[in-house]
Amino acid sequence: MIYDPKHECMPREELRKLQSERLIQTVRRIYDHVPMYREKMQEAGLTPEDIHSIDDLHKLPFTNKQDLRDHYPYGLFAAPMSDIVRLQASSGTTGKLTVVGYTAKDIDTWSEVMARTMAAGGATRDSIVHVAYGYGLFTGGMGAHYGAERLGATVVPVSAGNTQRQLMLLQDFGADVLACTPSYALHLAESMEDAGMDRSKFKLKYGVFGAEPCSEAMRKEIERRWQIRVTDIYGMCELTGPGVASECEHQTGMHVFEDHFFPEIIDPETLEPLPDGEQGELVFTTLSKEGIPLIRYRTRDITTILDDPCPCGRTLRRIKKILGRSDDMVIIRGVNVFPSQIETLLLEMGDVEPHYLLVVNREGALDTLEVRVEISEVMLTDEVRHLEEIEQKIKAQIASRLGVSAKVKLVEPKTIPRSEGKAKRVQDNRTL
Ligand code: AMP
Ligand code: ZN
Repeated sequence: MIYDPKHECMPREELRKLQSERLIQTVRRIYDHVPMYREKMQEAGLTPEDIHSIDDLHKLPFTNKQDLRDHYPYGLFAAPMSDIVRLQASSGTTGKLTVVGYTAKDIDTWSEVMARTMAAGGATRDSIVHVAYGYGLFTGGMGAHYGAERLGATVVPVSAGNTQRQLMLLQDFGADVLACTPSYALHLAESMEDAGMDRSKFKLKYGVFGAEPCSEAMRKEIERRWQIRVTDIYGMCELTGPGVASECEHQTGMHVFEDHFFPEIIDPETLEPLPDGEQGELVFTTLSKEGIPLIRYRTRDITTILDDPCPCGRTLRRIKKILGRSDDMVIIRGVNVFPSQIETLLLEMGDVEPHYLLVVNREGALDTLEVRVEISEVMLTDEVRHLEEIEQKIKAQIASRLGVSAKVKLVEPKTIPRSEGKAKRVQDNRTL
């Protein structure tokens, strides 16, 4: 179902006009209210009058996470605190949080784009939506909650944690839609199987999963285990939370809600914009935000914009599944490796469980990569020779498909930590 056909199926020309109007307003707002932007624009010799349409976007300077850190907590807010009705934040791995503020209108827009997301994933006003994303400062829980409610569905705000209780509630309350991270959805499926619960007692039909990379192979694995349709949803705290881009039932990449978030792909080295169809770093400009608008925000996420039509009828361009964050990319002797590439290969080979960890070390001047991957319970009784063969096979695949030599270590079932939120796929011992 398309929640908002007016905006999701808008003729491209009309959409461009709307984007231009909104960009002009946004630039005026930040120039008048945010000293950092005014200074950056002055340095570039720009005033708001130089921005006539979305085609002028490339003239504007980039923003990045460091800018948010440097102006922590409220320095980039473009609305007075009296108009800010909510704060959310992203945990970040080190140091201070990234803080964002929402006006009442921002919360309203967020609910709208998340209602679009829920509907695109299969939810209707008759749905029961089980939200197992964490609630709190993290945007996952709140975003899914407001979106499902706006759609008119029944929300079960379980939040993250306590897997047995999650399963009990999923079964008893009869949710047809599950919202959580893909890795947690997989963990729930395994826990259901381990507890000997009967899949037919669940009413689940759709999974609306995001907040971390999930390869196509992993999606299929989760769909098979739960017997549901999984759509990938993308967002980030800085931009609003989830609800920036979402797949439709055709699973052809995530439609970007371009009337609110304008995407660009740039070459991360030269910072030059790349044409649709080319892979690079995703950059977003918010077009309607009041609390903390962001201009050309560098997400660090690597993907490609697709502009070919989608059978669903939405005219919004799409982004391919996120290959990974440039921060998660490990460079092994000059070769760039994303965990999602290893994930695809492991799942396609099918000898092992979809639980893995990339461990990076430095031996002398050389970086080394070890891929730890779980074997299944049944394989525990296998001959050592057979397990060694599997290790060699994976090693050979990594070498031929990714061009990097890695050590492969099969580990016992359930020894790689499970996560209730975003899975940790890389352990980089070089920074310790
Ligand atoms: P946070 O704001 O803390 O939730 O983190 C946002 C980041 O999560 C993004 O920049 C992406 O790296 C990642 N992310 C969110 N959604 C997805 C998705 N559907 N696929 C891959 N990565 C995602
Ligand atoms: Zn579509």
